[in-house]
Parts: sequence; C-alpha cells; structure tokens
Amino acid sequence: MRLTFEIQDLRTRHAFHIARAAAPPTRPTVWVRITDDEGHEGWGEASASPYYGETVDTVAALLPRFAEAIGAAEPFDPLRLEALEAAVARTVRRNPAARASVSAALHDLAGKRLGVPVWTLWGLSPQAVTSSFTIGIDSPERVRERIAEAAEYPILKVKVGTPRDAEILAMIRTEAPDKKLRVDANTGWTVKGALRLLPVLEECGVELIEEPLPADDHDGLRLLRERSTIPIIADESCRTADDIPRLAGCVDGINIKVAKCGSLREAVRMVHIARAHRLRVMLGCMVESTLGIAASIQLAPLVDDVDLDGAALLADDPFTGPGLERDGRIRFNDAPGLGVQRS
Ligand code: MG
Repeated sequence: MRLTFEIQDLRTRHAFHIARAAAPPTRPTVWVRITDDEGHEGWGEASASPYYGETVDTVAALLPRFAEAIGAAEPFDPLRLEALEAAVARTVRRNPAARASVSAALHDLAGKRLGVPVWTLWGLSPQAVTSSFTIGIDSPERVRERIAEAAEYPILKVKVGTPRDAEILAMIRTEAPDKKLRVDANTGWTVKGALRLLPVLEECGVELIEEPLPADDHDGLRLLRERSTIPIIADESCRTADDIPRLAGCVDGINIKVAKCGSLREAVRMVHIARAHRLRVMLGCMVESTLGIAASIQLAPLVDDVDLDGAALLADDPFTGPGLERDGRIRFNDAPGLGVQRS
C-alpha cells in the first residue's frame, strides 16, 4: 500500500471565533490517501488544532513516518486494523489529528475492501440522531444573523466566554424561544464568573454547559457541578480515555472528538470507559470537511449527543457523503468505508 497526502484550504462561511481563539475564515487542512495493491483508496482528514499542538506542517512532517510504521510497502490486511493503529500510536504519543487521519483512511480502506460501511465493522446500525449547530462568538447583530440562518436547526450550541455572555444568551433566547440551547465556553470562564452566570443559564433553559473552566481545574469543575442544575460536559479537559476516570465526579459527561483522541478505535474506547463511569457521551468535531465528519458519523449510534456540524460551517465542501441534513438530522449512507466521494 502507499500513503500520499495533500494540503488544501477550507473556507468557513463566516469567521468563527471561540473563547480561546479567533479564527480566520480560511484554514488549511490535510487529506491523506492510502492506496492498496488492488487499487482501493482509503481517505482521511487531519484537522490540525494549534491548541493540541498541531499545524498542517507537523501533520505533513509525521505522515511519512506513519507510512513507514504501518509498513506502507506491505499488502493491506483489513483484519489488522488494530495492529496498524497501534503502530502509528507507537511512532508518536501526541499529534492526535495526524494519527486520526491515518486511522480514518485505514478504516475507509478496510470498509471498501470488505464492501461494508465502517459502522458495520463495529456491529452498529444507523440511528435517528440530530446534531446541534454552532454559533461562534460575535457581535449581537452578527449573532442575530447567524440565528436566522440556523432557523431549521432545532439545537443550537452557542460559543460563550466573553463579558457579553448574559446579553447574547438573552437575545438568542428571544430570537429562538423554542430551540434547545447548549453553551460552550472553551475554557473561558472562572469558577466565580460561571457561578454568577448560572442563574442566567438556567433562566434561558440552557441544557448543557461545555468546558466552562481552564482544562486542568478539576476542583473548580467539581464545585460548579455541585451548584449547577445544568449538566457539565468536559471537552478540552478530556483528550483520551485515560483522562476519563479522574473526571468522573467532576463532570456529567465528555465530548469525544476523533481529531482530539487520535483514532477511531480510541474514540470507541472512550465511549466504553465513559459508560463504565456513568457519564453522558457527546461526539464533537473540529471545523472539518465531510471527509473528516464522515469518520465521526460512523460512531454516532454509540453516543447521547451529537455536535458534528463542522462541514455545515463551510462555504464549500469538497466532499459529499454522510453528514447533516438542513435540519441537523444525521444522514448515514450504505456506501463501503466512510461513504465519502470527492466532488
Ligand atoms: Mg467544545
């Protein structure tokens, strides 16, 4: 088999800011292709996030090493996925998006060789699930425009973590009185600030609070959870399955992202370990094309909450395949592998 890759720009429809990072409307991404000796191609996307120590350059630097680790010269054996992922993980401990792109490409290739969708490889079947749609941090006028554009989505996830949170949330609640509202502070609050905002969040009927505090503030999370009637979900605090046991008791659930945990198999392992700790499980994403989102959708039947709108935020998506309908419902497909086509 042979591993090749290309770097391309993804353009979001609007600038997309979160509490810990302002983001330009264009961001580079890496597409990985693994071709086997029969001509099948497995594809994966590496959505590199500087917060987790990655850029397209670090991804590009590692991919040739991963190619070597999986024995790119050897014939591909779809039954050795676990060993191939382990070989990639032994090459480098961190760099999860780079590893995840190879994991996705290997799973895509295995599904294509066996003629089944990746979800079938795990004994899953498509379920009726609806994703939230994310509203970034912006001026009240722009947020109002975004809410109007998101009219068909029944669940909104609102990025918070600015001095205007209370004002913005009250405005959103007025504009969208019937939608489910979730908030994500991306580590942007202090315990004191979060406690002060709790009555506003409860008043607005917010149903989930994601990553309110700095990622290592477990005591703060525990205290906030004791005071909050709204469930708290760990995202930045929970990178891999190993983080889960010490978060139990501090949060109500975790947000799994394939590009954050490093592989599809690690994501499945996180689901199992979270369930063992009676935690709610959310499946999230980065700003990714349908190629990246399709890898996560394979896991959607395993989780409680889905936030897979990364490709829905793009101005143009170079891939078609599994994704979100205009009303946020997750669309699976029966095509082998990840079910993605380059358009
Ligand atoms: Mg988050």
